[in-house]
Amino acid sequence: MIPLEELLSQIPQEDYPKQSRIHKLPFLSCEKKKWFIKREDELGFFTSGCKVRKWRTLIPALVLDQVESAILIGSANSSNVLGLTLLLLEKGIKPLPLLLKPSSDIQGNRLFIELSLRQTKPIFVERKDWPEVETIAASLKESMSTKTAIIPEGSNTKDAFFGALTLALDVVRNEKEQKISFDHIFIDAGTGLQAAALILGLGSMGHKAKLSVLLLDEDHDKFQKTLRHWQSVLKSDHPLNYQTFVPKGQRGFRPLSESGFKKIVEFARDSGVWTDPLYSGRLITEAPLEAAYFEGNILLIHTGGLNSLFGFNDTLRKIHSG
Ligand SMILES: *Cc1c(COP(=O)(O)O)cnc(C)c1O
Repeated sequence: MIPLEELLSQIPQEDYPKQSRIHKLPFLSCEKKKWFIKREDELGFFTSGCKVRKWRTLIPALVLDQVESAILIGSANSSNVLGLTLLLLEKGIKPLPLLLKPSSDIQGNRLFIELSLRQTKPIFVERKDWPEVETIAASLKESMSTKTAIIPEGSNTKDAFFGALTLALDVVRNEKEQKISFDHIFIDAGTGLQAAALILGLGSMGHKAKLSVLLLDEDHDKFQKTLRHWQSVLKSDHPLNYQTFVPKGQRGFRPLSESGFKKIVEFARDSGVWTDPLYSGRLITEAPLEAAYFEGNILLIHTGGLNSLFGFNDTLRKIHSG
């Protein structure tokens, strides 16, 4: 594998932000354990979090391909679909959201997805048909008269993978600038693309940190397969230092329960950092449990996703009125 910076210099990229800061989490830290957080949530607002890194290389690939429209697969409250919708509109490419039919009223990211589209309405797929969504997307593409791309859930594509590699370089930049080195790094995983890119990126630089990946879909084998796949794409044979773990608290790939939301609120009060109910809010509660016997400098990657909080006004209001 060629060095990461050289590899990335050969890939067309948009100039979306790729540097996020890190800071301490004093309230979590003790003598043996110093906690830090990397604020990927500060990379933007509707276009924020680690996804900005994926879009950095995904959007140029669509532009180079002269695509005229793009089918965007995701949940109704998807930050990925909302962010991509906006970045595609910017480029004059027509977004066509293909969404899992929600059970709730129009709110949160879905409200902003729909408000961002003038004539187009999202196409909703019933939950029972959702396992076939890629087939549904393929036949939709067939029926289109314009050149159309299909973007899978979470922008899980090769073009997005290269952008995701920038996270490893940015962690190393943080370390150099703050003159510290991390012994442990925690990240959450949905499709696992971003976590795999971080493991492979740090591995290629010989970084000594051990990565702990919180698997929100709780499937170790699927993550191993994902990691091996991207390893072969990179032709990388560097040693990799990582482990996976699954939530000890609430299970399943769904938003937090009310007690989980209370932890998000407590964390914001302790640290000044809000987290989202699907990814980072799970990581901040699960990582300290997993790190019970860890020592040294520990970094939590805040992967973003805060705008999905707008879909949970009722729960948050309930906590507010206590
Ligand atoms: C998409 C997303 C993830 C997961 O990224 P994967 O590459 O699919 O594992 C994590 N956190 C947030 C906020 C996301 O939007």
